[in-house]
Amino acid sequence: MSAIDDLPPLRDVIARHGLSARKSLGQNFILDLNLTAKIARRAGDLTNSDVLEIGPGPGGLTRGLLAEGARRVLAVEKDSRCLPALEEIAREYPGKLEVLNADALEIDPLAHLTPPIRIVANLPYNVGTELLTRWLDPGPWPPVWSSLTLMFQKEVAQRITAAPGSKAYGRLAVLAQWRTEAQIVMELPPEAFTPPPKVHSAVVHLTALSEPRYPAEAKVLFRVTAQAFNQRRKMLRASLKGLTPNIEDRIVAAGIKPTQRAEELSLEEFCALAREVARG
Ligand code: SAM
Repeated sequence: MSAIDDLPPLRDVIARHGLSARKSLGQNFILDLNLTAKIARRAGDLTNSDVLEIGPGPGGLTRGLLAEGARRVLAVEKDSRCLPALEEIAREYPGKLEVLNADALEIDPLAHLTPPIRIVANLPYNVGTELLTRWLDPGPWPPVWSSLTLMFQKEVAQRITAAPGSKAYGRLAVLAQWRTEAQIVMELPPEAFTPPPKVHSAVVHLTALSEPRYPAEAKVLFRVTAQAFNQRRKMLRASLKGLTPNIEDRIVAAGIKPTQRAEELSLEEFCALAREVARG
């Protein structure tokens, strides 16, 4: 198969720049450029979009995004050892790639980009979940980004896309599916990474809906789901105690039995409950 660009193979790049993988930074690199191009394609048509990539590392996915014709890529990488390798890519794609040496949890780089914006990342799993929750956070909707294409531990990917009643169903599913279309678009075995992680991985693609599926105040829905799933095995009348003075009446007014458990409620029911709670 032909190479996706004229740059050297990633194994050579890593050896030349001494990029031994650091566990503390969750560094499990993808060296197969056909695979990174495939992940980039899962993000949709990039030719008309600015792309925010978090955690480019030696730049395998970055090269995929640029080879797929991204209008512009802003890459945020915490590990300064990766900068020379990323500079080489920037030279190959003049004016297309900007690299920020920063911790993605400390900055908000979205303001530097022009919509439509697609966010793509192969990140350490804990950072990925934290950023996903922030990107789904209360605030104006639709958000400034139009899609998220993120690598997760497979078990987390299943939690994001889970249906009510399933073991994986929880707060992450409700918050993600309320305002996005979320789908697992690729599964990867540990051997796809160097070094291989202990678990299987999956790429989740989330497209922002133009409006929420059901009306609710984001802040209230975030609070209700946090409290309900914090004690997921308890009946709602117990787990939601203290949320409002008359919570049992609010639950009934939302058309839900106070004896039901959080994992049994659909997205629509959670939104109805959030509307009732918002009434006080
Ligand atoms: N995208 C590359 C690939 O697919 O091969 C690297 C993936 S590796 C799983 C995760 C990358 O995220 C590493 O390069 C790591 O240094 C970087 N990283 C970890 N924590 C970060 C943070 N808080 N902000 C920005 N980058 C981070």
